[in-house]
Amino acid sequence: MKTKILLIEDNEQNRYLLTFLLEKHGYEVIQAVDGLQGIEAAERVRPDLILLDIQLPGMDGYQVAAELRNISSLQHTPIIAVTSFAMPGDREAGLKAGCTGYIEKPINPDTFVDEIMPFIANEEAGESK
Ligand code: MN
Repeated sequence: MKTKILLIEDNEQNRYLLTFLLEKHGYEVIQAVDGLQGIEAAERVRPDLILLDIQLPGMDGYQVAAELRNISSLQHTPIIAVTSFAMPGDREAGLKAGCTGYIEKPINPDTFVDEIMPFIANEEAGESK
């Protein structure tokens, strides 16, 4: 079964680029354009990994992460914040909201998939009891 990645991202170009990269590496990508759609998709699809843009319309990524962590089936799903905020403390805010990791925009297309792989490997190891 393909590894499922939920991409919550409002920017169409970023969605296109990330989806292209991930599908090229054999991942199944589920797209959501805002927090509400992302939370709904996460509950329904139970993704192996969630890539979460922080600058979203309406609910921001931190709020979305906190909501996702309130859903029992998603408590251990890796959530990677993807954000262009280069502010000190932003990483900490993401972790505090429940994110597992953090990748800065603009993403590097040559290394992006390698950067997210360890988070997926961890999840698979955790499930092979
Ligand atoms: Mn955005």
